[in-house]
Amino acid sequence: MDYQSVLEEVTAFARPLVGRGQLAQYIPALADVDAERFGIAVADVNGDVYGVGDWQEPFSVQSISKAFSLALVLAEGGERIWDRVGTEPSGNPFNSLVQLEYENGIPRNPFINAGALVVTDRLQSLTGDATTTMLEFLRAESGNPDVACDPVVAASEAEHGDRNAALAHFMASYGNLDNPVATVLEHYFRQCAIRMSCRDLALAGAFLARHGLRGDGTRLLPPREAKQVNAVMLTCGTYDAAGSFAYRVGLPGKSGVGGGIVAVVPGRCTLCVWSPGLDSYGNSVAGVAALDHFTTVTGWSVF
Ligand code: GLN
Repeated sequence: MDYQSVLEEVTAFARPLVGRGQLAQYIPALADVDAERFGIAVADVNGDVYGVGDWQEPFSVQSISKAFSLALVLAEGGERIWDRVGTEPSGNPFNSLVQLEYENGIPRNPFINAGALVVTDRLQSLTGDATTTMLEFLRAESGNPDVACDPVVAASEAEHGDRNAALAHFMASYGNLDNPVATVLEHYFRQCAIRMSCRDLALAGAFLARHGLRGDGTRLLPPREAKQVNAVMLTCGTYDAAGSFAYRVGLPGKSGVGGGIVAVVPGRCTLCVWSPGLDSYGNSVAGVAALDHFTTVTGWSVF
């Protein structure tokens, strides 16, 4: 596969959509980003990486971090996480409170905010420092020692974090958090505030294309757990638009309100696309279109 030409074709296709949609508005630091940016990268299972556009420009990973925190909990032997969070699509916005009461403080899946708070709590219990564990993993896989949290974004997340705090307190009242709410929120906000480029994220997510093997050939996850993470990404990774993402793109994918989306072609490659304009579900407009075109051109959807 000539990845470079495919990425160029995909970029030409998606370019007219760049700038469409809305920038994330809930914190000023994200509302300030240039809406005209677009980058796409692909890392194949051998670790070769290709990119077009702003593919080396760091952006706020936001909810893409939720895929890494889940994988790291499973890697630390935390498979009991599935007693505390489900594997079903929520059909509700990512920051919704409404299901949690009906379902006794057990979030529908690990990729809505409530679910990611539980996963972060577990990662904190397993490692003693959830954020550093994630940063070390991301630096190692991307080969970029500069991967870090943006302190301005992290502070802004905390300042505007009432909804996430409500979710965390609510789950704590059901006994579904082990650590203090403040600790869980701090790590959750810092993980959302990590800055990485499409290049870094494609490389960091390549273990999902390698059925759980890291870049150095060591095993992060057994194939069964890599399958589970990919499956939950497919069904839940783009929130209440996961059905239309599966229909259009047909790959496991995890989006963030920074405008990034990581998508996995198991056995072949991991992609990351970034463009900050979001649809009403919080997914990048140009990013989804680019991935749609990628699987159309290559025939590499999982379906
Ligand atoms: N930091 C955001 C939040 O917690 C992440 C949401 C997202 O990327 N969908 O609301």
